[in-house]
Amino acid sequence: MKLPAIAIHGGSGTITFDAKDSKLKKQYLDALTAALDVGFEMLTKEHSATESVCKAVTILEDCDLFNAGKGSVFTAKGQHEMDAAIMDGKTLKAGAVAGLQGVKNPVLVAYDVLQNTPFVMIAGEEAIEYARQNDFKFEPDSYFFTQLRYDQWQEMKGGGEMTLDHSGEGVKFGTVGAVAVDTDGNVAAATSTGGMTNKAWGRVGDSPLIGAGTYANNSTCAISCTGHGEHFIRGVVAHDVSCRMEYGGKTLEQAANQVIHETLKRAGGEGGLIAVDSSGNICMPFNTEGMYRGMKNKTQTITRIF
Ligand code: ASP
Repeated sequence: MKLPAIAIHGGSGTITFDAKDSKLKKQYLDALTAALDVGFEMLTKEHSATESVCKAVTILEDCDLFNAGKGSVFTAKGQHEMDAAIMDGKTLKAGAVAGLQGVKNPVLVAYDVLQNTPFVMIAGEEAIEYARQNDFKFEPDSYFFTQLRYDQWQEMKGGGEMTLDHSGEGVKFGTVGAVAVDTDGNVAAATSTGGMTNKAWGRVGDSPLIGAGTYANNSTCAISCTGHGEHFIRGVVAHDVSCRMEYGGKTLEQAANQVIHETLKRAGGEGGLIAVDSSGNICMPFNTEGMYRGMKNKTQTITRIF
């Protein structure tokens, strides 16, 4: 029996570890394991897939190794603007937030939008006001400061470009996400990100967009993406995987591999995704050098970078 099961990611891109980074590598793998363990334990205690992916993403948001929550990258103005989404594959209900500043756990606000509003997505100042009025935890700027992200921003600043925080040379890190199937066969997906370093003008990537970076549907699968968001938006990547299963009769693995290694790659899009179907099959393809990722079910726990 493959149920329940959970998979998570911490971003895809160029990831270079050499011998002296082995301590850092361990920190990454330990962080992934901690999120997997908590998410999986919830699934075994009859929590829903949606609750479990939300919790796993919260744990990754609290870890400054990843570009989400605490570890979010800097915008062109030297701020942190965070996006997140969550979708329940049983009800097809979804919640998303974009451009949040100061909120400790954007995914919790997204989940609240799913549960307590008639909307799917809220954004900007008004979304921040929503988080305040609903007593979500806020943190000062200093909480979101990490030297690595600051240095990455300093390199980019003024250049008018934006980058994936985990592309280019060296050890760099990314967006987080989780997908799960619970004991009832219900699937769910959640994604959270600080977006791309030096982003401007309220740029929003694929992560909070239902169908692009996040999607879940019990009749097919649950997906969370990471990579160059503009390509994932144009390719409606998460929904494309679901459609190939639903209309094209593909398996999860065939559908996900086609999208990442063929369609997305042909369009010049770099990145990867994690996916689970309602039978508990998991697949985690990426077309970049590496992707922080892991999966756990009753029989195995796997964490990988390359
Ligand atoms: N997909 C995210 C974005 O474009 C970035 C990432 O995956 O790290 O905002």
